[in-house]
Amino acid sequence: MIKRNVLLNPGPATTTDTVKEAQLVPDICPREKEFVGIMREIEEGLVKIVHGDMSVYTAVLFCGSGTINMDICLNSLLPENKKILVINNGAYSSRAVEICEYYGLPHINLRLPMDRQADLDKIEEVMRENPDIALVYTTHHETGTGLLNPIREIGALVHRYKALFVVDTTSTYAMRPIDIAKDNIDFCMASAQKGIMAMTGLSFIIGNREAIEASASYPKRSYYCNLYMQYEYFKLHGEMHFTPPVQVIYAARQALKEYFEEGEAAKWERHSRVFRAIRKGLEELGFKIYIPENIQSGLVAAALYPNDVNWNFEKIHDFCYERGFTIYPGKVENMGMFRLCALGAIDEQDIADFFEVFKAALHDSGVTLPVTY
Ligand SMILES: *Cc1c(COP(=O)(O)O)cnc(C)c1O
Repeated sequence: MIKRNVLLNPGPATTTDTVKEAQLVPDICPREKEFVGIMREIEEGLVKIVHGDMSVYTAVLFCGSGTINMDICLNSLLPENKKILVINNGAYSSRAVEICEYYGLPHINLRLPMDRQADLDKIEEVMRENPDIALVYTTHHETGTGLLNPIREIGALVHRYKALFVVDTTSTYAMRPIDIAKDNIDFCMASAQKGIMAMTGLSFIIGNREAIEASASYPKRSYYCNLYMQYEYFKLHGEMHFTPPVQVIYAARQALKEYFEEGEAAKWERHSRVFRAIRKGLEELGFKIYIPENIQSGLVAAALYPNDVNWNFEKIHDFCYERGFTIYPGKVENMGMFRLCALGAIDEQDIADFFEVFKAALHDSGVTLPVTY
């Protein structure tokens, strides 16, 4: 028996015991044919989750956390003498801007308010004035706040201006339904510890084969983190170029099996009911949620710290942690917030159990209920 913790942080998520146990396998060299078969199976499953046609789209796997995908897409998919536009209304798109800065990539940082969906008119204005933009990058769900961006509409606009659309879907993939073609996405991405509810250490980019092939002639800015190199090697050999995270891949295979057993609609409904329970629980205690309901991802609730001298996030966190529940701080500068997330293999009952513990933590700290601002 493995102790079950309910993780309400924004990933890694709570996993099933069967996914944890899938890692216990006989030692194997990943260059064996048996392992190559598993890699193909995973590639297909990952493309299928976003309803991609395998003749148009592929999944390219990397060993690393989700940020590696952001790095790879930005450094690999920019032709010479062209520019990147980052639509930035949150911490994750700010990270993408930092990646552009580290590589010295020509880019425009379109900073927009963090509590509103990206404004299409503003994006169009920039596209019109900068015909050298070849790649537009944004974040589907800004995990720091819970804001959802209108990617289908942004994608349509980007394609009108003949640029590639790269979307960080790390915190929606395999949770909120995505259709890569209908949503006008050229590249999306995620890592195994989030939506598919597997282990950390495996990340993947799902994207357009033709666009990857075209990138073969683009400037090479990284050796380990180059999209075309990894794609080509996988196409030829069915393996990752360098040592894959072997046991983590077995867990991912089991997680994909469980994903398709649960089904896209049922899984999204489960995350939604977990989220509704989180929202209701917070509101009953008087907490304010940063992002308005109509532009919420439905996966992350960022609640503002109340105005109470006894409020102490660390103390409340530790009280909950000792009882098997993990809560997480916010990610907006100069604003006190904490987050409760609906990722992972959890359901409504876990949230009911959590709020019993959370209320006890608030009482223990002497916080007045309902909280006030
Ligand atoms: C989790 C996450 C990432 C990856 O973060 P890591 O710390 O590298 O795991 C990237 N983008 C978004 C939107 C995320 O939620």
